[in-house]
Amino acid sequence: MNTPIREQRSLKNIIPYVPGKPIEEVMREYGIKDVIKLASNENPLGPSPLAIAAIEKVLSKLNLYPDGKSHHLRQALANHLGVEPEQIIVGNGTDGIIAHICLAYLDEDNEVIVSRSSFPMYDIYTHVMRARLIKTPSKDYGLDLDAMANAISEKTKLVFVCNPNNPTGTIVTKAEVETFMAKVPANVLVVFDEAYYKFVASDEYPESIEYIRQGQNNVMILRTFSKIYGLAGIRLGYGIATPETLAPLYKIKEPFSVNLLAQAAGVGALEDEAFLQTTVEANHNGQLYLYRHFDRLGLRYVESHTNFVLVEIGPHAQAVQKALLEKGVIVRLCTGYDLPKCLRVTVGDEMQNTRFIQSLEETLKELGS
Ligand SMILES: *Cc1c(COP(=O)(O)O)cnc(C)c1O
Repeated sequence: MNTPIREQRSLKNIIPYVPGKPIEEVMREYGIKDVIKLASNENPLGPSPLAIAAIEKVLSKLNLYPDGKSHHLRQALANHLGVEPEQIIVGNGTDGIIAHICLAYLDEDNEVIVSRSSFPMYDIYTHVMRARLIKTPSKDYGLDLDAMANAISEKTKLVFVCNPNNPTGTIVTKAEVETFMAKVPANVLVVFDEAYYKFVASDEYPESIEYIRQGQNNVMILRTFSKIYGLAGIRLGYGIATPETLAPLYKIKEPFSVNLLAQAAGVGALEDEAFLQTTVEANHNGQLYLYRHFDRLGLRYVESHTNFVLVEIGPHAQAVQKALLEKGVIVRLCTGYDLPKCLRVTVGDEMQNTRFIQSLEETLKELGS
């Protein structure tokens, strides 16, 4: 008998993460040439040009292992953020750091608090560590920090606060975060996932980095180069926390978790203020375009602080997503986020947004809704 080797017990609880379909896969499966992807919140303007230039300079050094401490990159981040290099950890994408946080902090008798309809990677690594996942209800499509605070027990080790929240695009405010933090015990680590923080224009958005500057050990902030800097393909994210809080992560991190090209790209991207500005402006205009057309089509949406918009389609959201795919437009169905009636669409460039709206309008007509 050739039975499969039995997997680790806790993996049966895991719903695998379903990434946005790659463009080439849709081309192959549907036999279409012209495919656009608005499913993974990638930057439609391409990668930061200064990051590309920095990568080109180090290509000839690829025979060497990268600096395991990512010295230059952590120094550049520290200067950029106004913290110490010792308060920064870099990782193979923010996803890599989320995994390391769970590996480094979770025991089997721990509880982890996340919100319903939030980023699914927290759930996956909580299950891997056999800790208990507690999901609190959402409020107006966003996180309910009161509910999250109330869920804290003696067993709680981690609370993941995705701010802005993926897939809804909502934020929790400075006032809400202050009230929340006042209730969090010192032995509970609050992880603020701020993958989209550079897109946020609201005055009410918290400066969570102040907690780190003040040396508070129960806060960690996560950010990424994938979204606003257009570097999703290189896999680079970072965490900000006190050295005491980062120490367990350094114990288990792979020695070369951030590759040589990624380290160079990060340093280059941080200097690319012009690219950042252009991205933010294009995103803002794209958002307004999408809102205008959702209004015209009578579709409800959540006003977004990010580069994506959650739109309510109704019971036939899955059929709409599939029909869009057949027209070469990839968007995200939110069933896996517990929002089965919704689609999440990345704000694209002008051509992509126009094509998406046209295809959506056609699809809604075809499906008679
Ligand atoms: C995209 C995203 C990440 C992952 O970023 P990577 O650095 O590409 O791994 C993490 N958290 C949220 C909320 C995201 O949307």
